[in-house]
Amino acid sequence: MMEPSAAFKEVLKEIDDLAGERQVTLVAVSKTYPAEDVKKVYELGHRDFGENRVQELTAKFEELPKDIRWHQIGHLQTNKVKYIAPFIHLIHSADSKKVLKEINKQGRKAERVINCLLQFHIAEEDSKYGLTLEEAQDILEGEFYKNAEHLNICGVMGMATFTDNLDKINGEFNRLKAIFDELQANYFFDQKDFKELSMGMSGDYPVAIEAGSTMVRVGSKIFGKRD
Ligand SMILES: *Cc1c(COP(=O)(O)O)cnc(C)c1O
Repeated sequence: MMEPSAAFKEVLKEIDDLAGERQVTLVAVSKTYPAEDVKKVYELGHRDFGENRVQELTAKFEELPKDIRWHQIGHLQTNKVKYIAPFIHLIHSADSKKVLKEINKQGRKAERVINCLLQFHIAEEDSKYGLTLEEAQDILEGEFYKNAEHLNICGVMGMATFTDNLDKINGEFNRLKAIFDELQANYFFDQKDFKELSMGMSGDYPVAIEAGSTMVRVGSKIFGKRD
């Protein structure tokens, strides 16, 4: 198997080639891998790392250098928000009004404005979390959001169906891009922070970049296959 640092360099180069003039952020997804693997990629100058479980994320946060930008990418239970609120760089998985309320509340306690992305359900599988466009519109037009001073919504996130059918994946990513454009035009036209389209994983990031992704979340292609 390739070393994480060598695999990382290959992935980064491929992303840069595919992105052309555009800026695409690579979030290296280190879930299930030890802190020492994160360190190898960190030592190449990389700072954006993603985790999907709060317990593992906080353990790595404690152990690793404090200038790492940690991304929460997996479904976030409301009762776990308080553990990451003091340090999290970006929550990709804000998928309900309930969790957004809690992020705002914990942001207030931590005296921070917390960056998050609205996660949308674009895949065929029921197992994947996420909002519908109607639910998001409802949140953005409601009373709660008007006064949510500790939330900074920076864009959207989604996961495509797990399939080899690239046309299908491409269709789902295009739909997420359309949702992003719609929200930007209607709710965030004067907010420059609303700019992230987090889509693409090891199996589909080239398709995602083609469809307009600004942030890809790549794990196994860098760190190796998980059990
Ligand atoms: C695990 C995970 C990834 C990375 O998956 P790979 O296929 O290993 O690249 C990306 N996004 C989310 C939400 C994940 O849970």
